[in-house]
Amino acid sequence: VITLGASSPLFAIAALIDAGRSGLVGASEQAAFSAANVDVAGSSVRRRQQPAQAPVKRKQTPGTGVKISLAAYDRAFEAKVRWQAGKCNKCGTLAMPPRFHCLGCGADDSWEYTPLPYAGTVYTTSTIHVPVPSLESPYTLAVVECDDVDVRVLMHVTDVPPGSVKIGERGKLVLRRVAMRSGVPDYGYAFSPDVPAEGKSGGAK
Ligand SMILES: [Zn+2]
Repeated sequence: VITLGASSPLFAIAALIDAGRSGLVGASEQAAFSAANVDVAGSSVRRRQQPAQAPVKRKQTPGTGVKISLAAYDRAFEAKVRWQAGKCNKCGTLAMPPRFHCLGCGADDSWEYTPLPYAGTVYTTSTIHVPVPSLESPYTLAVVECDDVDVRVLMHVTDVPPGSVKIGERGKLVLRRVAMRSGVPDYGYAFSPDVPAEGKSGGAK
């Protein structure tokens, strides 16, 4: 099986498990090559897949794209992709993304990563209709309140039509490619509402 993209090793392993075949999975990136011998015995593939939906009409606005800030990208990368907050070693205050200076007790550079829950509630939401150069609009953002912790995160809403998610709605956090910046894919978590997409009319005009 040959696939392309950062997620391709996962698809290759899933394809092996699906076919019930053990074997080598190799991945190359620039000058590095990694290989793993995958034994599929006792493994299974579970799919969480939305039923097919009518395509959403979005308009792509021409432009040069959202520029990447490598400093910001690097600062948030681990926390975003691992879905972990910075937890202050002194007072336990959580920050997402992690901060050098604790907003709870003022301690500097004294924190460690702690896992965040993969479920939450929409605290507030907004659908963006204005054309943003190189982006497709409309799209919906939400501030999501993570379960059981004092953390709210701004993220894209996925799997439902733009404008259809409501305040107080519950959902899961799913890993998505949220943007391309200067040609670099930007991965992060997006909010997937528990309410199924079918029957949702979409508030976008
Ligand atoms: Zn603190």
